[in-house]
Amino acid sequence: MEIRLAKHAGFCFGVRRAVELARETAEKVYKEERGEGTPRVFTYGELIHNKTVVDELAAIGVTAIESPGEAGAGDFVIIRSHGVPESVGQELVSRGIKCIDATCPFVAHIHEIVSAAHAAGENVFIVGEPTHPEVIGINGHCGNSARFIRTEEDAQSLRSETGCLVVQTTFDYDKFTKLAGIIADIAPGITVHTTVCPTTRERQAEAEELSRSCDIMLVLGDKTSSNTQKLKKICEKNCSRTQNAAKPSEISLDLFEKRDIIVGVVAGASTPDSIIREVINTMNEQGMAEINEATENVTAEAAQTIEENVVFDDNAIDQTLRQPHCGQILSGKVIQISADGEVSVNVSYKYDGYIPREEFSNDPELDPATVCKVGDTIDVEVLKVNDGENRVLLSRKDVERQKAWDEFAKDPDVSEKVFDGVCKEVIKGGVLVALDNGAAMAFVPASQVSTRFVQDLKQFVGKPMRLKVLEVDTKRRRVVGSCKAVLVKEAEEAEKAIWDKLEVGMKTTGTVRRLTNFGAFVDIGGVDGLVHITQCAWGKIKDPSEVFTPNQKIDVIIRELDKENKKISLGYRELLPKPWTTADERYPVGSFVEGKVVRIVPFGAFVSLEPTIDGLIHISQVGLKRVSKVEDEINVGDRVRCKVIEIDTAKRRISLSRRDALIDENPEEAAEIIAREREQRERERAERQEKRVQEEQARRENQAAAREERRRERGERQERRRREEDYELPPVESATTSLASLLGNIVVEENGENNEGGEN
Ligand code: SF4
Repeated sequence: MEIRLAKHAGFCFGVRRAVELARETAEKVYKEERGEGTPRVFTYGELIHNKTVVDELAAIGVTAIESPGEAGAGDFVIIRSHGVPESVGQELVSRGIKCIDATCPFVAHIHEIVSAAHAAGENVFIVGEPTHPEVIGINGHCGNSARFIRTEEDAQSLRSETGCLVVQTTFDYDKFTKLAGIIADIAPGITVHTTVCPTTRERQAEAEELSRSCDIMLVLGDKTSSNTQKLKKICEKNCSRTQNAAKPSEISLDLFEKRDIIVGVVAGASTPDSIIREVINTMNEQGMAEINEATENVTAEAAQTIEENVVFDDNAIDQTLRQPHCGQILSGKVIQISADGEVSVNVSYKYDGYIPREEFSNDPELDPATVCKVGDTIDVEVLKVNDGENRVLLSRKDVERQKAWDEFAKDPDVSEKVFDGVCKEVIKGGVLVALDNGAAMAFVPASQVSTRFVQDLKQFVGKPMRLKVLEVDTKRRRVVGSCKAVLVKEAEEAEKAIWDKLEVGMKTTGTVRRLTNFGAFVDIGGVDGLVHITQCAWGKIKDPSEVFTPNQKIDVIIRELDKENKKISLGYRELLPKPWTTADERYPVGSFVEGKVVRIVPFGAFVSLEPTIDGLIHISQVGLKRVSKVEDEINVGDRVRCKVIEIDTAKRRISLSRRDALIDENPEEAAEIIAREREQRERERAERQEKRVQEEQARRENQAAAREERRRERGERQERRRREEDYELPPVESATTSLASLLGNIVVEENGENNEGGEN
């Protein structure tokens, strides 16, 4: 019997990588004794379609889960080589699960194709089995929008369609080429990507060839393995005695009853090398004892083939995948972010790459997990193709810086934009600001740091700054910026926004900025308005400082707006209660108050109780003694304590008594003074009375003397008249008349005498 083992048998590159990752992860996580808090290691679905391997993994603590909810935060989940829909990766990460992405680079490449097509709005077509996990994963990277093609009828239905078409990596290559031919003819608008895995292609080609020349074909691999079943189908076409076995015990010995037969052996991509060796050994032991010698050689050859196969696989991958070189910029997919900030990246090379934390960003404080997550595609620079441990050393920071600079320098609107940054150091003539976008260090001259003159620029170091670009020197990669321009622009915009919302009658709060003799300037949120002195208080004030102090917060109302000349007239007193309306609450009758004498009038003194309220002390109430002049007791400017004795808010009058306040302060002394004052007044009254009596006496005596004098004079006049009449008598008629007149005179004179007597 001759055994012909296919060159490409056993684990493919993608499966081997996934199995190794699972074993390494279990080794790391379970290196110490497992306790309650120890994270668990899972695979998302069975890692490969091979029960033996799945059981082996379970034995070391790696089991399969079917949904993200089965793992918890802190657990590890290995994404198998088939990949998963984007949403699954996102959900795992959102649950705090540590994802280890073992998606085969060939599959990840398909994800990139469909994702880009979907983002560009193109139709996506997948040639493959819709229920296969790989196809489900691919569809999950184009928003589950794909249409599936399995048969020629399906292909025919694509007439005149446009979009992009990919194929399941393990799909029958020959069948795919037929479908692709049909599609190319009827739908030239569909871009066909031949994404059948090269490993699969090789295995299928070998199966085709071997099955034609062998009497018996053994297809090793699990019945659930898609690629194994495809190999079986290919073999069955050419060899009726084809048998599929996952392990030696499943091989039917009846097949080997004849000795002069040729047995071909092929194996699926998920069949471990150990099983292939075991099967060959079993065939030797059980069916071919007589030709042990020959089969030993075959077994040895088989083992060598398997080893070569591994080497061949790597070479094939080298040829199929990227050939990175130092300095090359590549796009890769983040597959893991470790706790210490190291980022593992799948760069579609046979080895995974890694970015040490210090190579991730120019900001040493930046935690990579805050800017990227598993599944993200990032650009990296290759620093070393192989760091000695079969890993590609990568850097992201220079790529980011260069990308940021290119974007920055080419931006036609760069001078219009505002950039954030952090002041790093003070240099001659200004400061250096590291732009947050990582594009460059911008130089900000001292005169452009602030709107004010700044003596000590060191105060800005370490602080965030915002700047506008004044100059970009692309050759010297130099940027000159201005923070002042940003501040000025922002102030203008803020002022405009404020002016836009200001309205007459609007109430707002402001801060007293400046006091002048004609009013107070108040900042109402970026613009100043004036409270005129007449608007500072309900009463008259001489200076706004009587009411306001600088930086005082006050409520104001907008009285007038002159947007053109940027003038705002504010009112303050309108928002205050009118003082007299509540004066009786503040100055109840009987209460004692203190105030300043502001004015003296003949009948009393006005005392200012508050800027708008004066009370009157009547002259009778200015002191304990009665005074003829108010100034005898108090003067303008004196502070006096008084008692409120009457208030009339309607007439705006408050009567005050300083006298009552003095009595209240020192009742005994006041009583003494009042008593003395009373005595004095009594004495003075008595004296005045005495004086009045004497004056009356004198007046009467004078009157009596006057009357006597008048009587004497009258007597003399009568006597003189009589003597004149005796001397010359008039004629009879006239004498009669004259007598009557004379009698009349006598009556008059008698009456006059009586009248005089009446006066007495
Ligand atoms: S068969 Fe190909 S695509 Fe699938 S895991 Fe293996 S190498 Fe990757």
